[in-house]
Amino acid sequence: MEKNTARSAVTLSVVVPCYNELDGVAELHRRVTAVCLEQGSSYEIVLVIDGATDGTREAIFQLAEKDDHVVAIDLARNYGHQIALSAGLEFCRGQRILILDADLQDPPELLGAMMAKMNEGFDVVYGQRLSRDGESWFKLTSASMFYRLLRRMVDVDIAPNSGDFRLMSRRALDHLNAMPERYRFIRGMVSWIGLKQVAFPYERHRRFAGTTHYPLKKMVLLAVDAMTSFSIAPLRFASLLGMLFGLLGLVVLGYTLIEWSLGNVLPGWTSLAAIVLILGSVQLMVLGIFGEYLGRMYMETKRRPLYFVNEIVSRNRAAGDKDL
Ligand code: UDP
Ligand code: MG
Repeated sequence: MEKNTARSAVTLSVVVPCYNELDGVAELHRRVTAVCLEQGSSYEIVLVIDGATDGTREAIFQLAEKDDHVVAIDLARNYGHQIALSAGLEFCRGQRILILDADLQDPPELLGAMMAKMNEGFDVVYGQRLSRDGESWFKLTSASMFYRLLRRMVDVDIAPNSGDFRLMSRRALDHLNAMPERYRFIRGMVSWIGLKQVAFPYERHRRFAGTTHYPLKKMVLLAVDAMTSFSIAPLRFASLLGMLFGLLGLVVLGYTLIEWSLGNVLPGWTSLAAIVLILGSVQLMVLGIFGEYLGRMYMETKRRPLYFVNEIVSRNRAAGDKDL
């Protein structure tokens, strides 16, 4: 948003959403700091605490009290990965922005190479995973199926095997921040912006510590967010299904009439029951798809803020600092 553009005081912002990452935070800070110092330019590390319950908050506050470069943003509760990331992206003020996960699955050491790529004139350099160490067969297969389906349904070119790990220019980030929607699938939104974007292939590592915060349920929810935010194809699928079953009905009716005219009495209770059941379930499914979109429209029309901040700890930004 424009509140950030005027004060691009630092060259680089590293934005990290952190949930319960107590065991990884110190290592994250150490490695990111080393990488930023190597770049030799001014930097800040924006750590967003997403309602952590395991002491991550206190650990991050301590870092912020010791290190000028750390900005700790404590959200009012756990809002989820994509919202926490959005908060960090709104508060950061670098001319270039690196998005990172707190678990160090995406190595910050790649920053130099990503910077070099961006210098070639790109606005977004997004990480594309070549391999994903330490992730289950199920996660890999479901992720790959999901991306394939999404790419089919959606006009936006969302790269497969890309997460949120990416380097963005201030201009691209301002565009992203100007998108107010509540159901945020950030990697898709960034692709949707356009500008010059390029893939950056890399090897994804294991989590440094802790376990994933994306169990199956959250993965499915993220997938539904992605589908519904970028496409109304499921709604069309509903009418397609309706037409298909209508045609099927006509065929069955024709067959019945022919048999009847030939004097054959059709024994049909079972098939009738089956047809009624199938039709009923298809109708409910279609209603469900409608409901999914309607519910989202309802939530969006409330226009609530995406998140609230509890506290910000930063030695560089005083509490009364309007720029915050
Ligand atoms: N995260 C968050 N809020 C949540 C869940 C996750 O801020 O409710 C953060 C988490 O700390 C991590 C990032 O989002 O930095 C990605 O989460 P995770 O590593 O668990 O996801 P995965 O890599 O397994 O997809
Ligand atoms: Mg992870």
